[in-house]
Amino acid sequence: MTKIKEVLHRLGLNDKLNKAVFNGKIYSGRGPEFDVINPSNLEKIASVRFANAYDYEDCISNMEDTKRRWAKTPMPTRGLFLKKLAVNLTAKKYDLGYLLSSEIGKTLKESYGEVQEFIDICDMAVGMSRQIGGTILPSERSNHVIMETWSPLKNSVGIITAFNFPVAVFGWNSAISLLCGATQMVLGSQSASLTTLATQKILVDTLKECSIDTGIATLCQGQGPLIGGMMSNDDRFDVISFTGSNLIGSKVATKVARRFGRSILELGGNNAMIIMDDADMDMALQSVFFSAIGTTGQRCTSLRRLLLHENIYDSFIEKLNNAYSSIKIGPATDPDTLCGPLHSKKAVDLYHDTISVALKQGAKSKTNLDLLNSFQAGYYVRPVLLEIDHYAPIVHEERFVPIVYVSKFKTLEEAIYLNNSVGHGLTSSLFTKDFRRAMKWMSPDGSDCGLININTSSSGAEIGAAFGGNKDSGHGRESGSDAWKQYMRRGTSTINYGNSVELAQGLVF
Ligand code: NAD
Repeated sequence: MTKIKEVLHRLGLNDKLNKAVFNGKIYSGRGPEFDVINPSNLEKIASVRFANAYDYEDCISNMEDTKRRWAKTPMPTRGLFLKKLAVNLTAKKYDLGYLLSSEIGKTLKESYGEVQEFIDICDMAVGMSRQIGGTILPSERSNHVIMETWSPLKNSVGIITAFNFPVAVFGWNSAISLLCGATQMVLGSQSASLTTLATQKILVDTLKECSIDTGIATLCQGQGPLIGGMMSNDDRFDVISFTGSNLIGSKVATKVARRFGRSILELGGNNAMIIMDDADMDMALQSVFFSAIGTTGQRCTSLRRLLLHENIYDSFIEKLNNAYSSIKIGPATDPDTLCGPLHSKKAVDLYHDTISVALKQGAKSKTNLDLLNSFQAGYYVRPVLLEIDHYAPIVHEERFVPIVYVSKFKTLEEAIYLNNSVGHGLTSSLFTKDFRRAMKWMSPDGSDCGLININTSSSGAEIGAAFGGNKDSGHGRESGSDAWKQYMRRGTSTINYGNSVELAQGLVF
């Protein structure tokens, strides 16, 4: 038996046809079949059968049946379920990571790290289960008090995830949403169907083990426009948490807004790292390298724009180029691989198109472009550094491939201006040893991104902090800090414990 077959078997899947819907009671799937191809060798791993509209309705009706019971379950009890889920995910960490690596081409180390994110957020949710509270506020009226209370949503949460983080984004949303007493439906990316299904199986098995009604967590894996479209229009979802491209995100946001629903939008990024001439160059180089190459440039937080101070421009590029020439490109499940394949043929086409458009817009390559087509079967590409005027139109787009645009600046003010000049506002990093520059970077005159890093890479967030961006990156926040508020219903209560009626603003009526 091949390794992938063994892994599928241990995860409750097979290498033939897998039903990709969990409707709250059984695994189903009455929609089209979809072949899952390993981007590292173009071999078929297995097939899945997607959902159709009937499967979708079954998921909804099973969630509807269970939602009040789950909402009434005490939060610490919900937390105990997440504690068990963390244990079960830990037991399956390496199998789930291996499948993720085989299905989307993320290297093994990064895939294990991604599963760990789900484990970490479960751990965090267990702690939160005994801590989430409301605020008590002073009232302007005598013998009055104002309290904010947080209750489970009336309806469900819909979670739509992107191909590049099918486990982590599933995990961030599920752990917090389930903790907050919501029922949920997940739609994963087609490219990550098996991984999404395997993750769901661990969740469902844990619900059964804890004797919790499995209708609280459904999976309606299928074609994005069909299932995602129905979810966005359906007012049985109070919240749609969408992670993906701006193109699809804007469709989702419009539909959800039209019915006055709430959307959490985690969209694209066009992330810059700024290296000042006083920076620790070894740290900067290591961090730039990770942000540029990690997940083959397919992270929302991947480095797209490298801004180098003019005094260190040539020397930094030379060192970076040396590092680039040592990158081991190869199958994602080979433990020595640093850079796996892209996840799809479409992504490879986008990569070549990006280079040709950039060259037409005046880019000069710092990488040997002759080597680009020297690969065997698999969606492999070579990470590229392109020197280009920051005002070239292509620099202002997110293209989800390992291409970094390099440009030079003279002052921090100019670098901040360039950082903020694009539509996206997800993540950004400044490398400096100067405390005043670091503080300016974080100040209102600094970076306008959601993530404003100093002396660390643009990639690699921790679950404890609220993750998300500003501007075209969507303003959504998932995972830590107070992101839980988006998965709950806020009530504000004014309580009069006196013996007379007093109106606000001193009104006499
Ligand atoms: P995508 O937009 O193509 O797909 C995302 C999801 O949308 C998939 O699950 C897909 O099935 C679904 N979908 C497709 N059509 C739909 C429709 N009409 N209505 C509703 N849902 C639909 O994105 P992708 O290629 O999977 O992921 C890459 C993108 O995601 C990049 O732009 C990246 O920056 C972004 N991303 C953002 C974050 C973040 O946290 N900000 C994290 C990961 C990825």
